[in-house]
Amino acid sequence: MRVGFVGLGAMGAHMARNLHRAGFLSAVWNRTGEKARALAGELSVQAPPTLAALASSIDALVSCVSDDDDVLAVVQGIAPTARSGALVLDCSTIGAETARKAAELLRPGGAEFLDCPVSGGVEGARDATLAIMAGGASQAFERAKPVLEALGKTVTHFGPTGSGQAAKATNQIMVAGIVEAVAEAMAFARAQGLPLDKLIDTLGKGAGSSWYFVHRAPNMARGTFPPGFRVRLHAKDLTICRDMAARFGVTLPVVERMLDEYAELIARGYGDEDVSATFRLKAELFEPAGKAPRA
Ligand code: NAP
Repeated sequence: MRVGFVGLGAMGAHMARNLHRAGFLSAVWNRTGEKARALAGELSVQAPPTLAALASSIDALVSCVSDDDDVLAVVQGIAPTARSGALVLDCSTIGAETARKAAELLRPGGAEFLDCPVSGGVEGARDATLAIMAGGASQAFERAKPVLEALGKTVTHFGPTGSGQAAKATNQIMVAGIVEAVAEAMAFARAQGLPLDKLIDTLGKGAGSSWYFVHRAPNMARGTFPPGFRVRLHAKDLTICRDMAARFGVTLPVVERMLDEYAELIARGYGDEDVSATFRLKAELFEPAGKAPRA
């Protein structure tokens, strides 16, 4: 199967490399063309000048771009020349409704769309250990499986188009709670004067631990927050969760609180930092008036 890749960002560049290692990658395309030309040169694959040219030369496309409008722009770019029976595996995090729209745009030409959002961070993309949540026709999923297995360790089909995104939205709500709790705990620990490296080693093996704590609490100990998973991307995901819950007339408190904190971080210019930058706000809780412990 000849596979093309679109969106060579923090996640996509690693994912494209893993497809290459597995022998699938035949071409790459990126909005900023220089990135595609550089990677194509390094891996000896094609870098077609347009999405239409890319689509006409492949059997499957994997995309990992930023948000809903970007996925629709990519799908509109490939729809006129995508081959009948071609697979379009979109790993971006977008709304379930947008995934269904993308599938509709491809249907007349016979290409099949699967929403395949991923979890596991940049490390998971690099190590091909992502958890992948797919939605779409079962037959298309079975054909896509070998490609998805080159990108992740856990590849699960949840049901019709959009259900992969619903599973991912569920994950993003959990992530919000964990981001909030770890930042608050680490700010508290620092105010207690605890040695943070030792603390991370020890609590990393305890009941309150998580992937996020082990991998991102060190950012808080160092006071640097390189992406990672950008604040503005998780804010985008939580807006999707807010909209999906609103259809049931529900407001989710964890989602709303995190969106407020991200809005504050973005307003202060930290939108492209990792979500662990939430620590900045929690640390400030202890800073006014020096916040010495009361007797
Ligand atoms: P990123 O580093 O910002 O990369 C975004 C990529 O999308 C870039 O290659 C960008 O091209 C491309 N792009 C944006 N708009 C486009 C458009 N209209 N047409 C074509 N290409 C476009 O983002 P990322 O961290 O890789 O995340 C990508 C997706 O994965 C997002 O949906 C995110 O929510 C999801 N995700 C991220 C993580 C994570 O830890 N980072 C984890 C799980 C899921 P340019 O190079 O031209 O800017």
